[in-house]
Amino acid sequence: MCGTGKFKVLWGLETSAACPRCGNFEDHLHVPHCRAASARAEWDRRTAAFSAWLDLQLTGPSIKIAILQLLQGVRTPPSFPRRTISSSVRPAFLAQQVIGSQGLLEGCIALSWLPLQQQHYDKIRCCRSVSLWASRLSQQLISIGFYMWEQRNSVQHSDDNIQLRERHSTVNEGFHSQFDMGPDDLPKEIQPMLTCRQQVLCKLLVDKEEWLKLLCQERRDFRRSMKAQRRSLRTIFSPGP
Ligand SMILES: [Zn+2]
Repeated sequence: MCGTGKFKVLWGLETSAACPRCGNFEDHLHVPHCRAASARAEWDRRTAAFSAWLDLQLTGPSIKIAILQLLQGVRTPPSFPRRTISSSVRPAFLAQQVIGSQGLLEGCIALSWLPLQQQHYDKIRCCRSVSLWASRLSQQLISIGFYMWEQRNSVQHSDDNIQLRERHSTVNEGFHSQFDMGPDDLPKEIQPMLTCRQQVLCKLLVDKEEWLKLLCQERRDFRRSMKAQRRSLRTIFSPGP
């Protein structure tokens, strides 16, 4: 449970569960899975850094290929062509598959990786602790998910936010149509609000929304009252039975 679109709707904080990056339904699984270009770029950046980290930790090459492939399962469908997994790491690969790609991203690693990595350390005559390798591996994986969440939040609080873009576009459309309709069917005291297009255009989004709401309401009321006046005049001046 975290502040994704799904829970914000459940908590009554938002009316839409749309992802701020792509506009699709957002739950916690969607955060690393999002198809938006900015999410893809962040994922590529983080997995490239993770791959470099695996090398730095002298991870067995077959282990590295298998883990990276499983991690890609978070975003890539299983039918996507994959690299061949070495038979020596296949049991660990299958054990990790049972946990799942999302589990891997959340730092849940299969125990079967540890003896394999130990074998690799022995082969290259390295005295590093395999427990420490596993612990750091888990932290690295969790941090990828965390960075995906951070990137999502940076979009949520920027002008690139899809909901914000939609609000901008709706208000701008309404703004231009108000100016195009002109001030004729507005009360005299409201007409000066349509004096300078540029002045209104420079306002903040919330101010523009307020401006638009007021003008729409005033125009509606004025038209309604004019219609009522015309109707009553017709009644007065129409010939009697
Ligand atoms: Zn998305």
